[in-house]
Amino acid sequence: MKKMNRKQFLLTSSIGLAAGASLTSGCISVDEKKEVEAFDPNKKFKWNMVTTWPPNFPIIGEGCNLFAEWVEQMSGGRLQIRVYGGGELIPPLETFDAVSSGTAQLGHGAAYYWAGKIPAAQFFASVPFGMNDQQVTSWILNGGGIELWQELYKPFHLVPFLAGNTRAQMGGWFNREINTVDDLKGLKMRIPGLGGRVFERAGGSAILSAGSEIYTNLERGVIDATEWLGPFHDYKMGFHKIAKYYYSPGWHEAGTALELMVNQQSLNSLPQDLRIILETAAARLNQYIPAEMEVKNAEFLKIMKEEQVDIRSFPDEVLAFLEEKTQEIISEMIAEDPKSAKVYASFKAFKETNKPWSELTERKFYNVIS
Ligand code: CA
Repeated sequence: MKKMNRKQFLLTSSIGLAAGASLTSGCISVDEKKEVEAFDPNKKFKWNMVTTWPPNFPIIGEGCNLFAEWVEQMSGGRLQIRVYGGGELIPPLETFDAVSSGTAQLGHGAAYYWAGKIPAAQFFASVPFGMNDQQVTSWILNGGGIELWQELYKPFHLVPFLAGNTRAQMGGWFNREINTVDDLKGLKMRIPGLGGRVFERAGGSAILSAGSEIYTNLERGVIDATEWLGPFHDYKMGFHKIAKYYYSPGWHEAGTALELMVNQQSLNSLPQDLRIILETAAARLNQYIPAEMEVKNAEFLKIMKEEQVDIRSFPDEVLAFLEEKTQEIISEMIAEDPKSAKVYASFKAFKETNKPWSELTERKFYNVIS
């Protein structure tokens, strides 16, 4: 059966509800009767939600806690979700496997963490020089992305939902000025994912370290640079105390999409109204996180400026070089993986169609506002 899109899902749900209503009028077939008997409106579901974030991680982890509250409130307590930070129930990067196997019913993270299993998943989080929040959100929700994402996760018994965006990130903290492409050579930077591969291709070396180790590694010179998120989270990490320069823009993460994944069998076990509640709460989380990121990042950029953090911009030449390397890496990726080729074709087509519109409106607006 073809995967349902959101409209079809809601339509089927309303048909389901309408059929349910007609059952009370007396025309019940044997099968329908079974279904009615099986449906207990007071049945309570207690689910576990694992996440890739540190426990109560500001904005994102807190958003997951709110999500659980919203679901509980909307369902009148029929669907209760207990949220676990990374490492509390399982290690953070086992989130995908835990939800896939049904150890937990729900997970929250970012799809590029699963690049080792599914390279194409990265398009549903962030690719360097890709799309910003509103563009990637539009592509996923209404531009054909979600159907491809569902298809990609289906063999793993997972149903993905878009559930947040980090919005624009910064390029990171450096202890060396970046004036030419040569300044990237030999630079050791904590930068994950495709961005890290691009950075290596550009002559640097990408070091992977868990969030908790970055500060010490930078302080001790194990790494020369690191990226993290934006002014709010970066300030809380204290990077401004140990790094000389804060570079813009986040060429590797212009608007990273976040995901909620649900175990397919668990989702099937829910009555229709609880499924819709889950979907509605995911949509609310999808608005909450980016809005909160925008508020807090602006506030903390102001604080950083007051504290005289040296904020720089990567030279155009460096960005053009990184973009060229990104294209090389993506070309190789789609040549070796048909799934990546399929997803990238949709991603690229959307980006190209959207570009003249964004240029005509938003770029012009940003150039003239005072
Ligand atoms: Ca980042």
